[in-house]
Amino acid sequence: MRIIFLGAPGSGKGTQSAILSKKLGIPTISTGDIIRNVLKSGGKQAEVLKSYTENGKLVPDNLVIEILKSRISDSDCSNGYILDGFPRTVAQAEALENMGVKIDIVIDIDVDDNLICKRMLSRLVCSKCGSVFNSATEMRPKIENICDNCGSKLIQRKDDTENTIRTRLKVYKEQTLPLRDYYSSKKILKKIDGSKPIAQSSAEVLNLVKN
Ligand code: AMP
Repeated sequence: MRIIFLGAPGSGKGTQSAILSKKLGIPTISTGDIIRNVLKSGGKQAEVLKSYTENGKLVPDNLVIEILKSRISDSDCSNGYILDGFPRTVAQAEALENMGVKIDIVIDIDVDDNLICKRMLSRLVCSKCGSVFNSATEMRPKIENICDNCGSKLIQRKDDTENTIRTRLKVYKEQTLPLRDYYSSKKILKKIDGSKPIAQSSAEVLNLVKN
């Protein structure tokens, strides 16, 4: 299966993708995670990418399409995958189609802006393994500011600041929301209410995927 999670930053795409990945035994591809790994390793490409991500802007289509294309050609993707954070523009969705990728279902996670801001401001990520926690949800770490998985320090994402969040939501509305119509016209768009508890949303997601 090839599944896309659509939704604003902070809507829970990453959390729901990780849960579904385990259930279906297929990888999640997060272009945001791939980009953050490039940033960690430094170099010229990192400098270019950083100028977009740290300001809440989208990385240009041609760069992110190349990143995605290379990742889906890996052998672990042969039985399907879940896309978290790609496509984010109609041009990216068209590129996916031109690559011959057939998407089975697009799950649109709907959450209102106030809840999104609250979630993003309390989101913490592991400085070493990238695991995500949140002091305002069920994803609270067992020990404050320490990663449950590897024991490293939790930090705030550089783009989870009030100003950048505002820009990211604006960018989402202008550039990503048109994808709702794009996939709706293909009759593969399904919507869930992302303000519910994580387990309830993941049960709904599984239900949609199995039907
Ligand atoms: P995310 O972790 O999905 O919120 O992504 C973090 C940042 O990476 C975004 O704010 C963008 O700057 C960049 N990014 C991730 N995925 C894409 C994409 N599909 N298109 C353009 N930029 C992206």
